[in-house]
Amino acid sequence: MGTEFLKIMDCDEASEIIQDLFKQNLKPQSEEIKVSESYGRILFEDVYSRIDFPPFNKALKDGFAIVSSDSFTASEESPNTLEIIDFLEAGDVSDKIVEPGKCIEISTGAAMPQGADAVVMVEYAEKLDGKVNILTNVTPSQDVGLKGSDISQSNLILKKGEVLNPGKIGVLLSQGFETIEVFKKPTVGIFSSGNELIVQDEVLEYGKIYDVNGGMIKSAAVSCSCDAHFLGIMEDDYSIVKDKISSAVEDVDILICSGGTSAGLGDVLKHVLDELGDVYIHGISVQPGKPTIVGVIDNTIVVGLPGNPVSALMIFNAFVLENLSRLAGIDKDFSLDVVKGNITKRIHSQVGRMQYQLVKVDGKNIVPIFKDSGAIFSLSTADGFVKIPKLVELVDEGEEVEVYLFK
Ligand code: AMP
Ligand code: MG
Repeated sequence: MGTEFLKIMDCDEASEIIQDLFKQNLKPQSEEIKVSESYGRILFEDVYSRIDFPPFNKALKDGFAIVSSDSFTASEESPNTLEIIDFLEAGDVSDKIVEPGKCIEISTGAAMPQGADAVVMVEYAEKLDGKVNILTNVTPSQDVGLKGSDISQSNLILKKGEVLNPGKIGVLLSQGFETIEVFKKPTVGIFSSGNELIVQDEVLEYGKIYDVNGGMIKSAAVSCSCDAHFLGIMEDDYSIVKDKISSAVEDVDILICSGGTSAGLGDVLKHVLDELGDVYIHGISVQPGKPTIVGVIDNTIVVGLPGNPVSALMIFNAFVLENLSRLAGIDKDFSLDVVKGNITKRIHSQVGRMQYQLVKVDGKNIVPIFKDSGAIFSLSTADGFVKIPKLVELVDEGEEVEVYLFK
């Protein structure tokens, strides 16, 4: 079932179409989850403090809650003796009032009793029977965490788009949040297609190869904060591909297939998408990765990546990653980091198409990795890629370039 490419599309035009398709068909969604389970999730809303923290004036040290003026003349040589009228552990509250000449023995974290305005650390006190010698002077509020001094109620404490880490989770818990609204992870289904593909626990018979793209593209989608599932290997068979795709699109936001996207005999994806939905892109003017398909079936975006793993990962990074990341709530203009350096070897590029050149970054030296696009090992040595625009024929040795770093 051979076919022609729909129309080899310019790289920028393809980018724009894919971005529009994401915007038209998929809106960022939110879900409420337990704060204690929220590590790595992305906040869907600004969060304001619910309470003052600390919620009461609290002792910051173990010692004695006193009226600070009682200590002003105190020193080791001439201590001031106070009467201990109560004992307070963290969580306890005293109904006694501390007046001049009196004090309450207090533990770190306990609420300051009425009347007392400072804590004398236990190291600067000498406990006697029912009394204590204060051996130093303290200032008002010394070793007291004043109510609301850390954060007061109704203040912005975390912003939409922040990624929850243990510290931020701690802040939410201190404010009494049990649940929190986060971006729902977009669901991504992944298929590999090709009669030659086997899974890793199968025997490698002559003519077969292990499926790379299933697990590789799944991990790439996970790096965009998606909930990604490998759905298996499909044979290059029209009705198998059609059945599998039509049932998968019901369960996922985005379906990413690889292999079978060209215009050859076994390349059925384009026909299946034509029948089940609409094809918007078939063929992009890039190297590597020309045989790329993008279509939509009932609001599910279906991307057909080229089967060659290097091309598949390049196309994912160049066209899919940013859109998936944005949908997942990742708050960056472009989700790959960029570094600058100088190319160590001249690169030739064919005019008329965008070229993605794999490179290794060695300080300021950007070393191109020249391998044919079927070579897989370069993926483990490449740190990223350089974009060579379609009208550039040559990047000369020493020229400054920008490298898009792989995640
Ligand atoms: P295709 O895009 O189906 O024409 O495949 C192009 C090349 O990539 C062929 O050499 C395939 O064997 C290889 N290939 C396709 N899919 C995969 C995959 N999932 N894992 C590893 N190699 C693949
Ligand atoms: Mg194939």
